[in-house]
Order: sequence, then C-alpha cells, then structure tokens
Amino acid sequence: MAISYDLKYKGRGKRKCKICGTSRSLIRAYKLQVCRRCFREVGNAIGFEKY
Ligand SMILES: [Zn+2]
Repeated sequence: MAISYDLKYKGRGKRKCKICGTSRSLIRAYKLQVCRRCFREVGNAIGFEKY
C-alpha cells in the first residue's frame, strides 16, 4: 500500500530545516524547525549558550 502512504504525506508533514533545507536531525524546539547544525547558530541568537 505505497499509494496511501504517499497520499498521507502529500499535504502536510514536510519538515525541513528553515535555514539549510535538510530534513535530517530536525529540532522543533521553540518552533524553530531547524536541524541540529543550524540550531547551534540559531540557539546562539536566541540566547542558548550550550548546545
Ligand atoms: Zn539546517
């Protein structure tokens, strides 16, 4: 049933890093929706000192 699976992801469910566009290792903390790598940079901007 690959078709139904496809339909499921047609509308919503696309999660990509807002910065670099990757879909791996995404962090949705603070509704930032960025990957781990970019989270370091963004985290810096919002006052996240560690990690
Ligand atoms: Zn990224």
